[in-house]
Amino acid sequence: MTESPHAAPRRRLVVVGSGMAASRLVEELVARGAHATHATHAITVLGDEPVAPYNRILLSAVLEGTHRPEALTLRTPEWYDAHGITLHLGARVLGVDPGRRDVMLVDGTLIDYDVLVLATGAIPALPPIRGLVRMDGSLHPAVHAFRSLAECEHLLAAIADTDAAGHPVNRRAVVVGGGLLGLQVARALGTRGLDTEIVEGAEHLLHRQVDTAAGRILARDLKKLDVAVYTGARAVRIEDAGDRVALRLDNGFTLDTDLVVLTAGGRPSTALARGAGLEVRRGIVVDDRLTTSDPHIHAIGDCVQHEGRVTGFVPPAWEQAGVLADVLTGEPTTYDGSRVVARLRATDLDVAVLGDASAEIEAGGELVEVANPIAGSHRRLVVREGRIVAATLVGDLSRVGLITQHFDRGTVLGPTEPGSLLMPERTTTAGSATRALPDDAEVCACAGVSAARIRSCSSFEEVRDTTRATTGCGGCTSAVRELLAARALSPYVSTAKGN
Ligand SMILES: Cc1cc2nc3c(=O)[nH]c(=O)nc-3n(C[C@H](O)[C@H](O)[C@H](O)COP(=O)(O)OP(=O)(O)OC[C@H]3O[C@@H](n4cnc5c(N)ncnc54)[C@H](O)[C@@H]3O)c2cc1C
Repeated sequence: MTESPHAAPRRRLVVVGSGMAASRLVEELVARGAHATHATHAITVLGDEPVAPYNRILLSAVLEGTHRPEALTLRTPEWYDAHGITLHLGARVLGVDPGRRDVMLVDGTLIDYDVLVLATGAIPALPPIRGLVRMDGSLHPAVHAFRSLAECEHLLAAIADTDAAGHPVNRRAVVVGGGLLGLQVARALGTRGLDTEIVEGAEHLLHRQVDTAAGRILARDLKKLDVAVYTGARAVRIEDAGDRVALRLDNGFTLDTDLVVLTAGGRPSTALARGAGLEVRRGIVVDDRLTTSDPHIHAIGDCVQHEGRVTGFVPPAWEQAGVLADVLTGEPTTYDGSRVVARLRATDLDVAVLGDASAEIEAGGELVEVANPIAGSHRRLVVREGRIVAATLVGDLSRVGLITQHFDRGTVLGPTEPGSLLMPERTTTAGSATRALPDDAEVCACAGVSAARIRSCSSFEEVRDTTRATTGCGGCTSAVRELLAARALSPYVSTAKGN
């Protein structure tokens, strides 16, 4: 399409990072017509990874062997081309000059911007383990980080490594960190047949998200999957021990292993922002319009701190992307930071976390909980003034859609409703409750997609391509299929298009 000579000049929008937040932002801008073929923004995306933007959540699925790396691609380079968006892969940004309004790539290329978006994500935190990092700054060869596709493929290569007789060289693995990522990785390594152990410094697994009882249920689930769990113990030293390495714990134990995988959290990647003189605390500080201390620079995703909080999950990153797309296209939308939703994607481990339960209890919230350790389920809501302000669900996610809906909307519930919401779905036919979901119920927590929006699509592919539901953690896939199946049977078809 040629530009009209009278058209307003296109704004040069440069996005640093081509991860999950950046990809969603670009999709949202395309959905609003704010891209080159509509002549409003000249968009350039600069990502340091050499591959097309991909779904990081599914890295553990690649490790487990259920997905091929190509299946993780969010949008192909051809899609970017088709929308007139410049995508530079393998392009690391070294510095931002807010005075000249340009960014410098590692090869010295300067790229000018009118508006800059930092979507640089997080970097894995290195726990204080002696011997972890070598004199040249590299990790001990038995130690693996797990945040990028390259690191995932490196770990897969180590698992596939065989000796002269064709036997696997690496048969034991220790996962350092019992958070969401640690659980995913341990599950995947166990499935690959490695003797796997998790070491977690806190007293129970997932200690940031769930309480002791739920943590115990998760530990039991993992043990059933042949993963040993050590809680209340920190790895302090790694030493070579013949063919293996010895990982020493602060409780006196030593774990002999072939591989050590670090999953002990990440911290916002803020080096560029600091270098540019932007306000940075734990993350890059942004206001309700996702603007940094420089009015020409915005930031979204894991690198951001909003109202004192950093998140580290896809749903808030994608919500920020949607709000920023509005901001960039002149809409009055603001971000209120309420949507702290996380759902763990790991085969046979079901966890959903909404909000920050401990903080809400401290702030006077009342706890409503139902636990059945025998069945392996533990569900709790924190309720303040009748509203669900936080929830953690382990083992049974059948009511997560409805609970998320009330959480998001701040619905005021009657005194018995929170308790009823924690009871398992009473259905005569599997999936009938999903089919009966009201149109405005949220089905995909990652992309914020309602039941009506799903019902308005005629195929799974259409849902995936137009709403992006199922492309995040994938936890809504069966609900989407149910709704589409019901739609096919129903004489009435909802046509609502809003999210
Ligand atoms: C293995 C794994 C499993 C996860 N599972 C879940 C889950 O189940 N549920 C959930 O909600 N969340 C999960 N997360 C977290 C989720 O992936 C992140 O919240 C999400 O990716 C954040 O998106 P982002 O774009 O901010 O960061 P990222 O997706 O990390 O993207 C940032 C990108 O910026 C690039 N970059 C950084 N600096 C530069 C630079 N100077 N120049 C150019 N490029 C740069 C990085 O290389 C990266 O490609 C998981 C994360 C991992 C690693």
